[in-house]
Amino acid sequence: MARVTTPRPLLLITLMGLLAGCKHAGTHHNGDDTGDNPPETFRVETQTVTSNNHGLFDVDFEVREGERVQIVLSDHKNGIVGTEQLIDPDGNTALDWEDWAGGHHSLTEAVYGAEHVSTLNWPIRAQDGVMKPGIWTLAGDTLDRTYNYDGKTDVDVTIAYRKDDALDSGSVHAILAYCTGVRDQDGVVDAIERGVAYWQELYAKWGVDLTVEYADIDVDPALPDTYEGVAEYQTLLAEHADYSLLMVVGDLIAGDAYVYGEAAAIPGPIVPTEISAVEISWIAHAGANGKFSDGEIGILGETMAHETGHYLGMFHPVEDGWQNWDAVEDTNDCTDMGSCEEKLGTNLMFPYPVCTSMTDCEAQDQLTDGQVGIMQRYVGVD
Ligand SMILES: [Zn+2]
Repeated sequence: MARVTTPRPLLLITLMGLLAGCKHAGTHHNGDDTGDNPPETFRVETQTVTSNNHGLFDVDFEVREGERVQIVLSDHKNGIVGTEQLIDPDGNTALDWEDWAGGHHSLTEAVYGAEHVSTLNWPIRAQDGVMKPGIWTLAGDTLDRTYNYDGKTDVDVTIAYRKDDALDSGSVHAILAYCTGVRDQDGVVDAIERGVAYWQELYAKWGVDLTVEYADIDVDPALPDTYEGVAEYQTLLAEHADYSLLMVVGDLIAGDAYVYGEAAAIPGPIVPTEISAVEISWIAHAGANGKFSDGEIGILGETMAHETGHYLGMFHPVEDGWQNWDAVEDTNDCTDMGSCEEKLGTNLMFPYPVCTSMTDCEAQDQLTDGQVGIMQRYVGVD
């Protein structure tokens, strides 16, 4: 029933060399500072920092008027990296991991320090405000795989900045890539394209203009969990001119016929990494007969929208133990299956499809304003 297992990025990546070959990487200067050029609306910077003996590091970065940011941390030792605090130019703490660790509401996986790549998008919600121009500081940590602080660890830091004050409209570009042989399976291309059309229709309701291009990727269709990473995901994205989302269609994910799809992290990185992907299983959707019914295509489109929703920063409004919730004020904090299915069962981000039979499932085509606000603040949505 799960669309996704807990996302956990795993493998070591190196961003800097790949970004150097990318059209939009880095801040472009042409020597003309007379002000005739339009202001940049998207820029990316990279640096490498080293944690101190106690496994702590700071990253300073300058935010310009009207910008929001995404900070992607990548630990060279393949240990664990995370965000402890985000500090504004006046020294105030905008985000503190201790406010979220161990609690019952989820805001961002950046503070959990679970894996070797960690992504923080800021702000996340309307109540997080706008970023004051000036020097911000991210305080991070490096841990070993037994969760002890691990000092003297290099961390690649990639920061993407988006200047955009239109938080009720935006656009995003996705690449949908078929794994080896998947395109040749009977009925799969037709089903995927119909699923994409529904995904686009859903996102349009929330002010996100989604464009999708199709590609092939030379990857075994027996996919690993997304958080384990696949080198070809990074390569494909780095070769692409623009910063895009990647959706990969394979047979099964981690051999599990009940996993429809999986996002690498909440949020996922907008820059190319080995975990920069949403994976979709076509076999889980087509079911035992291998053929797509109209109902299964509906679920497929909703899975595409749901997993990408995770990637853009949304958690489930309630987890299916009914005692953990997202940090969104206008999603109900229900406490049992019956009331949760009643109050949230039509929400796109509900943890599983609500069905009365294999072929009769409720449409999950709703988002609250608070949830839409998270999508619209993701730095990859302009
Ligand atoms: Zn999910």
